[in-house]
Amino acid sequence: MLTLWDHRFAQRTQRMESSAIRELLKFTENPDVISFAGGMPAPEVFPIEKFKEACLTVLDQNGPASLQYGSTDGYAPLREMIARYSARYGINVTIDNILITSGSQQALDLLGKILINPGDGVLVESPTYVGALQAWRAYGAEFVPVPTDEDGMMTSKLESCLRAGPKFIYALPNFQNPTGSTLAYDRRLKLIELAENYGVPIVEDDPYGQLRFEGENLPAIEVLDSQTRAQEECYSGNVIYLSTFSKTLAPGIRLAWVIAPPPVITKLIQAKQGTDLHTSTFNQMVAYEVAKDGFLYEHAKLIRKVYKERRDVMLDTLSEYMPEGVSWTHPKGGLFLWVTLPECLNSQDLFKDAVAEKVAFVPGDSFYAEGGGFNTMRLNFSNACPERINEGIFRLANVLKKHLVA
Ligand code: PMP
Repeated sequence: MLTLWDHRFAQRTQRMESSAIRELLKFTENPDVISFAGGMPAPEVFPIEKFKEACLTVLDQNGPASLQYGSTDGYAPLREMIARYSARYGINVTIDNILITSGSQQALDLLGKILINPGDGVLVESPTYVGALQAWRAYGAEFVPVPTDEDGMMTSKLESCLRAGPKFIYALPNFQNPTGSTLAYDRRLKLIELAENYGVPIVEDDPYGQLRFEGENLPAIEVLDSQTRAQEECYSGNVIYLSTFSKTLAPGIRLAWVIAPPPVITKLIQAKQGTDLHTSTFNQMVAYEVAKDGFLYEHAKLIRKVYKERRDVMLDTLSEYMPEGVSWTHPKGGLFLWVTLPECLNSQDLFKDAVAEKVAFVPGDSFYAEGGGFNTMRLNFSNACPERINEGIFRLANVLKKHLVA
């Protein structure tokens, strides 16, 4: 329905749409619904006692400063800690390369703000993270989808997409949201080579890199890119790297970081000043207090153990209950797996019946910039406990079976 306000909105506002996932989450608020829909961590792994202690310490030792305005780039000890933490994974940067953001979602939005002119091409995986599509659509991005398979973005198809002259490439190398797939090592190298040849930067979004349950960690695109450069050039590399505390500490604290060459950090800071001045000082100090003595490494071990068990239960129950013609990915980490249904099924139609049977998932089509993917769905395995995963997949399989005979 048109309202008096519609013609008052800016052109970019007219391009804004509600996130399909956030709309769906409303259906899952009922505790009887077993939800595989959101990307939510297991509530059981939130380190509540550590947070309690840290809040008291921050207020006792740093009370006034923690409640005061802070600098836009972020709390220096936290940035120093992130620099040390990143060095363990081969990312060698100083705090001048690091900006703290209010979640990686804000980093995606700020990148749109500083990089995208209306009509600019953005090369995305197909399917890709819907939150990035939502953020960049508002800035008028034209998405150029690159097909993916179980080894991530198909770099053999990349060159023709790069000829379209995109502004940047958006890459999700580890346990991708939504498919759970990981970009193979040789494809990482190819991606860097082609991006360099065509002079197109890469935005590497890596919320799940620390959550590998099996196999060897692969080096970040940022690391491989800097290895191709002379030492003095490192800080003018071709990659903007994003990561977050959402999956290793808690998403409610809204804390993440960007690692980028200084000219990019400077522009992001200016963009962030107009958005929120800075990320919550108190939350940054508390997160630093929680994490400063290596807690993250220990805690990530616990998270990996819990999520591996849940992934295994989901894989086992899918094999046990799902009818023939349904297939799914086998992620080696992260929070999600991806289900492909027979072509005759539409996951949007299934969703309504699934919610009636008290189980929820995300229909896959919203992850495709170019549309389509109606016979796909994303399942989250981190949030529900093993018993509920078993029951939820049983219910979901029954809904599918009913649609297959209908
Ligand atoms: N990027 C990806 C790929 C994600 O999956 C998510 C969270 N679902 C985000 C960014 C946003 O994370 P944050 O909580 O740090 O805003």
